[in-house]
Amino acid sequence: MFVPTQTEKIPPCQCGCPNGNDVRGWLAVIAQRHKTGHDKETAFHLAWERLAQGNPFPATMGRICPHPCEAACSRGDKDGPVAIHALERFLGDWAVHAGLRLWKDPGAPELESVGVIGGGPAGLSFAYQMARRGYHVTIYERSARLGGMLFHGIPEFRLPERILEAEIARIVDLGVEIRFETAVGRDVSLAELHERHAAIFVGIGAQRGRDLGVPGEDGPGVMGGTDFLAAVNRGEAPPVGKRVVVVGGGNTAMDAARAARRLGAAVTVLYRRSQEEMPAIREEVDEAVAEGVDLVLLAAPARLVRDDGKLTAVEVQRMRLGDPDASGRRRPVAIPGETRRIPADTVIAAVSQEPDWTLLDGLRPEGLWVQGESEVEIGKNVWAGGDARGPGIAGTAIAQGRQAADAVHASLRGLGRQVSTDRRPNVGPGDVKPQFYLVSAPVELPTSSVEQRLTLPERETAGTIDEEQFLAEVSRCFSCGLCFGCQHCWTYCNGFGFTRVVEPEPGTYFTLALDRCEECGKCIDLCPSGYLSPRADAPAVGTPRG
Ligand SMILES: Cc1cc2nc3c(=O)[nH]c(=O)nc-3n(C[C@H](O)[C@H](O)[C@H](O)COP(=O)(O)OP(=O)(O)OC[C@H]3O[C@@H](n4cnc5c(N)ncnc54)[C@H](O)[C@@H]3O)c2cc1C
Ligand code: SF4
Ligand code: SF4
Repeated sequence: MFVPTQTEKIPPCQCGCPNGNDVRGWLAVIAQRHKTGHDKETAFHLAWERLAQGNPFPATMGRICPHPCEAACSRGDKDGPVAIHALERFLGDWAVHAGLRLWKDPGAPELESVGVIGGGPAGLSFAYQMARRGYHVTIYERSARLGGMLFHGIPEFRLPERILEAEIARIVDLGVEIRFETAVGRDVSLAELHERHAAIFVGIGAQRGRDLGVPGEDGPGVMGGTDFLAAVNRGEAPPVGKRVVVVGGGNTAMDAARAARRLGAAVTVLYRRSQEEMPAIREEVDEAVAEGVDLVLLAAPARLVRDDGKLTAVEVQRMRLGDPDASGRRRPVAIPGETRRIPADTVIAAVSQEPDWTLLDGLRPEGLWVQGESEVEIGKNVWAGGDARGPGIAGTAIAQGRQAADAVHASLRGLGRQVSTDRRPNVGPGDVKPQFYLVSAPVELPTSSVEQRLTLPERETAGTIDEEQFLAEVSRCFSCGLCFGCQHCWTYCNGFGFTRVVEPEPGTYFTLALDRCEECGKCIDLCPSGYLSPRADAPAVGTPRG
């Protein structure tokens, strides 16, 4: 007895994305446009709208996100994952080029005012989700630009300013008010914010760099990683000399090293653990090495050597890996007597960053970081998200801004605590049957040569795919957990249990009449995407569409 049920499931890519992006959904709008009767332009437009609902930064995220969605993609084991980030970038760029705008929810009423501290991706995501519901949003931003670390930290060669600006402008165009160069706690008090706004979102990030804490650090020739990158991004790159040593193993260290290479310096990165423990995005490390950055692993600065005050070298202590520490990573331990000197004109300290609570004493959490699983309310009508909850990536900041907006909306409207309404099961092992899909190699992503990168330092390193490649790559998606209209069930059902839907949409191509079912289970075996499953797998209550 194998009674089938049509059960939409959450695909692996969506589970892998920190923002839970509906990847399959927007890919399907384009891949299945011939079945649903949409022309290409309309399909692109609808797909972008679907993507932008949860992520208003597709062109940005397609460039900088480490794309964990692809590591989870079911296609990976067959012939390589769908190149989701490259597709996201292409569609995001297409929308920027086409001048598409974000929109308010139809019939959105005029609602209360909410305040946002910090205009990074977390604050902007919160602002977007509130503005589209009809709230009046004011962002208080300490600096003169929006974007947080995406603007001040990530270099032009990875994320062009014009792309980030275009995606931010669409959020501002929803009527969001911006108070630039307004640090909350200095230029406006928290008490004033409480008077003005029904709720406050804190998205201050982790902007304060830590010192190295070694002798010789005070003096010329030493700078913080984010300060250095912010200066480069402002077009005010400081002189770094011929030899730069960057200390750290995270994204800031890699970006600082790559930016210093583009200023013409020979660059060494010191990291106290092994490459495996490096928190930086793997591709960034590979790119840095390809660009000639020298990685010295299991090495930490012991002191900075100066000659008459001038920095000349870093004395480097060799380390080994000991027992795991609280983070689960193996602790670096100094090997006595094993030191050496690396000549340096500049040292860039990129060891770690932390939130700066100095101006916001009233909100300071017990530890350094905001604690809590999701939708964190850190005080009466005050919510927090993004890097202030722990150093993370932009996708997590966007997700937390969105989740906080859901929670604030629920609280202000008296809807009780917002809980996820997505009760669909995940695609399980063996649900998807890769053997039914033709082999098709993933698209090759263009990239500029090392020579071009060093001679044209601002030029974007990673190139984009063209429309033909985009359409071919989109069609590689298996549509895991949802019908894509392959017709196997309809063709092979002995009892004629499946009937075509007259006006199909992705996911709804056939209806199933169980009174005709002979319970042979053939349709389940032949469903490539795992949409049909044995009835026992069906959730007890319906399967709301996400
Ligand atoms: C160099 C670097 C490279 C990175 N590379 C990547 C990458 O490739 N991919 C990726 O996904 N992530 C990357 N990240 C991480 C990513 O940038 C962060 O996770 C993300 O920006 C966090 O967003 P946020 O909004 O929480 O904080 P932030 O982006 O830090 O924004 C916080 C904002 O709050 C403002 N602010 C702070 N205090 C106040 C105050 N008192 N009043 C008013 N405004 C205030 C700040 O000026 C800032 O604009 C990188 C980070 C760095 C530093
Ligand atoms: S935001 Fe990142 S993880 Fe999510 S779908 Fe895009 S590339 Fe993948
Ligand atoms: S094949 Fe498509 S639906 Fe399945 S995990 Fe990959 S991108 Fe997602």
